[in-house]
Amino acid sequence: MSRPVFRFAPSPNGPLHLGHALAALTAYRAAETAGGRFLLRIEDIDTTRCRAEYEAAIHDDLAWLGLDWEKPVRKQSEHFDDYRQALDRLQAMGLLYTCYASRSEIAADIAAREVVSGQSWPRDPDGAAHVPKDVLDAREVAKRAAAGAPFSLRLDMAAALERVPGPLHWLESGTGPEGETGEVRADPAAWGNVVLARKDIPTSYHIAVVIDDELQEITHVVRGHDLYHATSVHRLLQELLDLPAPIYRHHRLLNDPAGRKLSKSDGDTGLGALRRRGLTAAEIVDLVGLVSDRETPATAPR
Ligand code: GLU
Repeated sequence: MSRPVFRFAPSPNGPLHLGHALAALTAYRAAETAGGRFLLRIEDIDTTRCRAEYEAAIHDDLAWLGLDWEKPVRKQSEHFDDYRQALDRLQAMGLLYTCYASRSEIAADIAAREVVSGQSWPRDPDGAAHVPKDVLDAREVAKRAAAGAPFSLRLDMAAALERVPGPLHWLESGTGPEGETGEVRADPAAWGNVVLARKDIPTSYHIAVVIDDELQEITHVVRGHDLYHATSVHRLLQELLDLPAPIYRHHRLLNDPAGRKLSKSDGDTGLGALRRRGLTAAEIVDLVGLVSDRETPATAPR
């Protein structure tokens, strides 16, 4: 039997914080325990926000934490063609449509629908309203297409769901935000017509992650609860593109002392900042609530 493959897949759009340390250490230790492989993947499809210095800091921070990973490291920005091929397949299946409507046009359209129906329009797990397919009429779409206007490529969720034979599930070896575990039912419909590419970024997190997890033969995905519901979209795309489903392990999120989710813009919990303040890797392990397994605890400066 081949060895299990785990990965840590950060985006270099800011400094890694304690939550990333928890994700990376959890995946790394799970790989060690399972006698598996550990990969680092740089998720830098948003070339407008990702920066080389953050990428270098990811390598420094992880090495400082005592992790090592297989080389070469896959960088998503070098593989747009792989994602294009997947999008082409979905397009050929008639499951994508081009959306030229702007955010404000979509918001106005939904507000009007809510007035007419007297009901609130469905929202996705992140709280954003589902985007209707027909915000603009065919003439306006043709006009904007001819003018080369900005657009997003969206999955036609209703058409996509018709292509899958029945309910989709995934194996959750961690827990969901509500304690879900074991065989969990995916609910891709909850997301509506998700964006899978844009004019300026020719892919999306959802497409790149399922393609790379398959190309890198990832068997175990370890990541935070913030991506738990996205797994429903990933299961749908895997089904549509005939990709195997890894086992998922979602872990708790860390909060700052005020109870807010950690963010890359909050420098205080950045791993580099903590390192410069003199904390040790072992102290980071303790801080994120993992049991430190130092072999020589007496030498760790306290
Ligand atoms: N790139 C994502 C992030 O930094 C993680 C993706 C994943 O683990 O699936 O939040």
